[in-house]
Amino acid sequence: MPDRTIYLDHAATTALDARVLDAMIPYLTTEYGNASSIYTLGRHAMQAIDSAREQVADILNSRPTEVAFTGCGSESDNLAIKGIAFASQKKGNHVITTPIEHHAVLYTCQYLERFGFKTTYVPVDSYAQVDPDDVGRTITDQTILVSVMYANNEVGTVEPIAEIGRICRAKKIPFHIDAVQAGGSLPLDVAVLNADLLSLSAHKFYGPKGVGILYARQGMRLLPQLQGGSQERGRRAGTENVAGIIGAAAALRLAYEELPLIQPRIIALRDRLIDGLLAISGSQLTGHPTNRLANNASFCFEGVEGESILLNLDLLGVAASTGSACTSGSVDPSHVLVAMGIPVEVAHGSLRLTLGKNNTDADVDVILSAVPGIIEKLRGLRG
Ligand SMILES: *Cc1c(COP(=O)(O)O)cnc(C)c1O
Repeated sequence: MPDRTIYLDHAATTALDARVLDAMIPYLTTEYGNASSIYTLGRHAMQAIDSAREQVADILNSRPTEVAFTGCGSESDNLAIKGIAFASQKKGNHVITTPIEHHAVLYTCQYLERFGFKTTYVPVDSYAQVDPDDVGRTITDQTILVSVMYANNEVGTVEPIAEIGRICRAKKIPFHIDAVQAGGSLPLDVAVLNADLLSLSAHKFYGPKGVGILYARQGMRLLPQLQGGSQERGRRAGTENVAGIIGAAAALRLAYEELPLIQPRIIALRDRLIDGLLAISGSQLTGHPTNRLANNASFCFEGVEGESILLNLDLLGVAASTGSACTSGSVDPSHVLVAMGIPVEVAHGSLRLTLGKNNTDADVDVILSAVPGIIEKLRGLRG
C-alpha cells in the first residue's frame, strides 16, 4: 500500500477541514448543554445554533427561520419530498422529477407511489441535461411538487434549475432542488435559483458527516417526518447535533470564502484529467463538456469493467468511483448513464474522478500515467 492515498472521490465525501473541527470541539466537550434547556449551558448551545443558522441563511440569501438542520442530505431530500407531498394530498398527487436524481430522491418518489402518488420522470439528453420546457409541459393540475438536482453527482452536469424554478413559480408549483453535490461549489442564492426547497449535506463540502440542511421557503407547508420534540420549529424532532450544526455552518462559510482561490486550480486539474484520458482509444467523457462541476472528470471506457479499474487504481493508492455497482453477482449499470442513452455495455466501464482542494498536479500525473496501461491490460485479459 502506498504511503498516501490519492483521494479522487470528493463527490462521495470530503475530509473534515481542520478549522471546522476546531470550531466544533467546544460543543463536543465543555459546551455540552441541550439547546432546549433554559439554564446558561443550554442557552450557549442555542445561541451557537442560532448563529450557525444565520451564517447558512446568509449564504442562501434567505431568512434564518427558513433554514432547518437535519441528519444528512438524504434526510433533507426525504423531508422536502414527503413533507410537501403528504401536506398537499388535498391539492393533488403528482410529483415531477428526473431519472438521474440521487436515490434519496428516486426511492422517496417510489415510496410515495405506495400512498397513491404518481411520478413523472422528465427525460434528459445525452449530456444528462433536463430541458426546462419539458418540465413545464409535464405539469398538470394534479402536480404538487417538482424536484430536480442542481448538479449530478455521477457525471457532474449542472442543470438549468433557475429556469425550471421560474416555470414552477409561474405555475405556483413548489420546486425542490437537491443541491447536495453543488454545495460549496455553485452559487446558492435561493432567490436567483427560484427555489422553494433546497437540500445540502455538510460532508460534501469539508464539514462533518451526519448533518444536512434543508431550506424551505416561508409558507411552504411540510408534514414533519419525525415526531417528538418541537426542535427546528417543529420541522424535525430530536435533540440538535450542536457540534455538527456548528461544523456545517463553518464549512459552508469557508467553502464560499475560499472558492475564488480554489476553483480555478481545480478546473485546471480537471481539464488535464479530461484531456489526458480522452486520448485513450474507446474512451468518452460523460456529462456536459462545459456545463459541469469544476471538480468532476467522468468517463466511460469501452471493453472494461469500472470495478476492475477501481481495484487496479486502489493498488496504487488511488481512491476513485464507478457508476456501476456489483450487486449479487451481476453488474448493475448506473441509472444515470442509462438515462443518458449510453449503451449498457459501455456504461459498465465508467470511471468517476472527483477532485478536491488538496489535490495536486502530481496526483493528476499518477492518473495520467497509470490509467492507459490499466485499460490496456484489462482489455487484453478479456481476450
Ligand atoms: C451525497 C448526496 C446525497 C446524500 O447525502 P447524504 O448526506 O450522504 O445522505 C443526496 N444527493 C446528492 C446529489 C448527493 O451527492
